[in-house]
Amino acid sequence: MKHTCPRCKAPGIAGVAKRWSSRAVPAKCEACGGLSHVLASTSNGIWATGVVIVMLSLIAALGWHSPLFFFGGLVLAVACNIWAWKRARLWPISKESADKAATGNWLIAGIAVLLGLS
Ligand SMILES: [Zn+2]
Repeated sequence: MKHTCPRCKAPGIAGVAKRWSSRAVPAKCEACGGLSHVLASTSNGIWATGVVIVMLSLIAALGWHSPLFFFGGLVLAVACNIWAWKRARLWPISKESADKAATGNWLIAGIAVLLGLS
């Protein structure tokens, strides 16, 4: 499945590329080569919603002693995830901003490692 590029409006962005896109690792359009990404708040929200649905169905399954609730919840979480990713909006990003975001991530990772070592 392909997604519409926010730059050239052509369906040049692969579904997988969109799903894993972020500021640091944007998806690349096959038509125009432009970079775009899904906002971190959007992708975090999608994952959080999935986790909440699974947790609630787990509680329901345990409460009513029926694994069916859990499987139902899993199906719902997956369906919700697919639907939300389809709707998630892609935002264009420049190569420079993506590089800057990538450097920022490395800095944060480096600081985290240093803090972990000390
Ligand atoms: Zn494009």
